[in-house]
Amino acid sequence: MNVQMTVGSLLERAEKLYGKKQVISRTHSGIQRFTYKETGQRTRRLAHALEKLGVGKGDRVGTLAWNHHRHLEAYFAVPGIGAVLHTINIRLSPEQISYIINHAEDQVLLVDIDLVPLIEKIQPTLKTVHSYIIMSDDKLPDTTLSPVHSYEDLLKESNPSHPFAADIDENDPAGMCYTSATTGNPKGVVYSHRAIVLHSYALGLADTTAISEKDVAMPVVPMFHVNAWGLPFAAAFFGTTQVLPGPQFTPQILAELIQNEKVTITAGVPTIWLGLLNELERGDYDNSSLRSILCGGSAAPKGMITAFEEKYNIPFAHAYGMTETTPLALISTIKSYQEDSLNEAEKLELQSKQGLLVPGLEMKVIGANGEVDWDGKEMGELLIRGPWIAGEYYKDERTYDAFRDGWLYTGDVVTVDDEGNVKIVDRTKDLIKSGGEWISSVDLENAVMSHEAVFEACVVAIPDPRWQERPIACVVLKDAYKGKVTKEELLAYLSSLVAKWSLPDDIIFMEEIPKTSVGKFLKRTLREQVKETLSNQMNG
Ligand code: ADP
Repeated sequence: MNVQMTVGSLLERAEKLYGKKQVISRTHSGIQRFTYKETGQRTRRLAHALEKLGVGKGDRVGTLAWNHHRHLEAYFAVPGIGAVLHTINIRLSPEQISYIINHAEDQVLLVDIDLVPLIEKIQPTLKTVHSYIIMSDDKLPDTTLSPVHSYEDLLKESNPSHPFAADIDENDPAGMCYTSATTGNPKGVVYSHRAIVLHSYALGLADTTAISEKDVAMPVVPMFHVNAWGLPFAAAFFGTTQVLPGPQFTPQILAELIQNEKVTITAGVPTIWLGLLNELERGDYDNSSLRSILCGGSAAPKGMITAFEEKYNIPFAHAYGMTETTPLALISTIKSYQEDSLNEAEKLELQSKQGLLVPGLEMKVIGANGEVDWDGKEMGELLIRGPWIAGEYYKDERTYDAFRDGWLYTGDVVTVDDEGNVKIVDRTKDLIKSGGEWISSVDLENAVMSHEAVFEACVVAIPDPRWQERPIACVVLKDAYKGKVTKEELLAYLSSLVAKWSLPDDIIFMEEIPKTSVGKFLKRTLREQVKETLSNQMNG
């Protein structure tokens, strides 16, 4: 039957079938617990309140918020009334935040209390916002935002059984998220109801993340970044207990939440898991409830996979996606017949790849001579299409760079092996072109990070008159090794792992590697820092 797939129906299932299961939310005032029944009532109150503020079908409602129960309520209330949930990355610059709010033409902003100063600063530049709603456990703070409302007061005055809109077409927009661009302002990606629902199904498949009612899911990846990889939607759909780690969390807070709430599946970028590993090594935690750490956003270093699996017995799942792909597109997989036929090193190699295409999607890899051979060697750009892959950037000319002939050009250079496993070699723009050969910065980073003294490492290209480009490795040592490991030792170690011509020309020790708003290495900034360091070295 042709029944419309809507985001509201995901929560409706949790309300009806899993009313007793919980949403556990860490806020400024501590841990709060709500059943899905209560979550449903609060969500409907919010939906009603937004309608009373004049929000109608197709209107954009922005959120500036951490991962917590109120943000989750907005996830369903906004699409529930046919409006569009615009999750705003709180770590963008004030200018970029102002740009995207104006570009999306947000009518209402839901703002966490600690982010109010950020919005106060840019309020004079906002052209379309007519109401500010402050999300807090406490009373409204003194603020210059106007007109301003208290989230909890609005809920009190509204109907807990307010119906979701009945006339939603599954192709209507339900959400949107802006992704950073190499040049210029962030680009908007719109998610339809249908895309979000189908992506939720995809997360439930046994061969992907297998998220189910029996899980306790903790999305660490921010709810302002690609819908926390869709976990909050899928968790509600399947009646999964959700743990939302709230504002300003630390590795210690994460380790405690996993232990106390018996989290079984969690998701985040590699830097989060490096932090957790460090914490587990320092403290005494029982994180044995975890059946899966889902890691994506940038390549998972092999050393980290091994540490979690062997030392802590926590299975590690490496996945790949983009803002444009809602995001799940690839996930590392060991096939049944490989369990016996591969040795441990080969299995680790497989896990460090981004893996197989998720059911429901299609891919093509285009190299210099058309589609590449699936030999694990030939490189090409990954193209994807499918029901949860975006078709354009929102009102943006740059659409024509990335979306062509019905395919998304990901800008990622990959190889595919004979089993269909995709390996991300680099971003097109980060690949190091040296003397006619391509050097993968990702491979080099992995090699450096496999040294026991290295906490994290990032490789960038610098221009070279003879070779065109050469790699430089920036390394942060673990505290215990600072001042005790030399460049020469690291280079000697690397020369046993990588081809001679791809050895970095230099190793620069740093206290910290600059990161993007979502915790990925910020190669653009790092490149500038490296150039400066090298020219100081030459002049000094
Ligand atoms: P941003 O450009 O703002 O970081 P995204 O979060 O959408 O936006 O980033 C998507 C990009 O992240 C992908 O195109 C790819 O380069 C990289 N990426 C995502 N997952 C992985 C992974 N598992 N391994 C390597 N790179 C990844």
